Amino acid sequence: MMSTFTVNNPATGEELQEVIVSSNEEVLAALKAGHTAFKTWSKVNAHKRSALLSKWADLVRAHREEIGELITRENGKPLAEGLGEVDYAVSYIDWYAEEAKRIYGRTIPGHQESKRLTVIKQPIGQVAAITPWNFPAAMMTRKAAPALAAGCTFIVKPAEETPLTTIRLIELAHEAGIPKDVVQCVNGDGPRIGKLFTDSPYVRKITFTGSTPVGKELLRNCADTLKHATMELGGHAPLIVAEDADLDLAVQQTINAKFRNAGQTCVCPNRLLVQDSVVDKFTEKFVEAVKHLKVGNGLDQDVTVGPIINKKGFDKIVNQLEDAVSKGADIACGNEYDYNDEKGYYFIQPTVVVDVNDTMKIMQEETFGPVAPITRFHTLEEAVEIANGTPYGLAAYFFTESYKTGVYLSENLEFGIVGWNDGAPSGAHIPFGGMKESGIGREGGLEGIEPYLETKYISTNI
Ligand code: ADP
Repeated sequence: MMSTFTVNNPATGEELQEVIVSSNEEVLAALKAGHTAFKTWSKVNAHKRSALLSKWADLVRAHREEIGELITRENGKPLAEGLGEVDYAVSYIDWYAEEAKRIYGRTIPGHQESKRLTVIKQPIGQVAAITPWNFPAAMMTRKAAPALAAGCTFIVKPAEETPLTTIRLIELAHEAGIPKDVVQCVNGDGPRIGKLFTDSPYVRKITFTGSTPVGKELLRNCADTLKHATMELGGHAPLIVAEDADLDLAVQQTINAKFRNAGQTCVCPNRLLVQDSVVDKFTEKFVEAVKHLKVGNGLDQDVTVGPIINKKGFDKIVNQLEDAVSKGADIACGNEYDYNDEKGYYFIQPTVVVDVNDTMKIMQEETFGPVAPITRFHTLEEAVEIANGTPYGLAAYFFTESYKTGVYLSENLEFGIVGWNDGAPSGAHIPFGGMKESGIGREGGLEGIEPYLETKYISTNI
């Protein structure tokens, strides 16, 4: 019997669609088909691959409204953000359609008169991706586009919460003329399909965006067959406001960075560190701005903060808040919930917590919700120590008008992405990725295609 799982709208609990679970046999058959297709796809010339990617991008653009709405329905983010994600997702396809034509090798002067030394780049093989629910379009295209541009075949398992966007995007890829076995989608639970991917001799690379524990498990499972791996894992971003910061700019950028996707992004500022001389002023302005955010169904006009994805996410946030309050933190605004276990929706009013300290879970664990804890620091050295005092190293932000402070913080923060007076540093043309337990490898930019390529050295003795 065919089994299915249900995709629900997290804003209402309403059932959106039943999705068929891919059986083991189906996943294995898809992996075999992807392996076979690699033999021909890898030989398609780069300009043709580029043109097919561009066609895919055009089709996604033509369906912008439909896909933006689909993202909002299954993920919950406000429609403006759903549409913004479509643009962001397409920008990766555009970028790598161009990069396909710029995969360069090199020649090396020989060490004997008869030797000609050449380095060529070749696609690595079939790539298997596992993606999360928070950016169902962009996290997929960020992997698929460079893989296909490089000449790899690609198979993805999207998150069970948000598979519909991925299914639709893959349909459009096929419609654009990318062969069916070159870009594939399978559905089901992560542990089972993840293991089928990592065990398969037909997969040469795993690319994953999700939580750090799952990333570690995948990496361990890659060891037996020595697969390449790119890992985009959790974050616990600090955001530092120095005493010479433009506070209005800092507030506006922090609001955008913190409450996008209801705080459910791995680059969300999770720890606001404010210099003691400006902490009261910053907090006052920040709380005022937070009170203007509107929580609700992302399809409703004016809503700026959608629901929490599910009960697990909601419970974690509530637990962090209870823990912080029990240890002496104060709530400056928010901390109100609207939820219904029976229907399955969970909303949290944007919340600012003050007087937090390092003993609280909220300062130690990724929150993934619309909650901003504020702590104070005295010297910049202290701020750097607090900021770096985490196993994570994905994104960090700081606000200062001083170039000396800016250079000091830029160079001393142990994070892969640093925003200086900038709460939105991401883009298809930049290398996105984390240090420490936030990941391995970079996606986007010049760096983003390299992990899909092997380097081959050819020594010709003439
Ligand atoms: P979250 O807790 O935010 O859902 P996860 O890391 O659990 O983050 O999920 C991200 C993706 O990883 C999803 O597609 C999910 O199905 C998948 N996944 C979850 N557990 C595993 C696992 N053990 N192996 C492989 N993939 C997994």
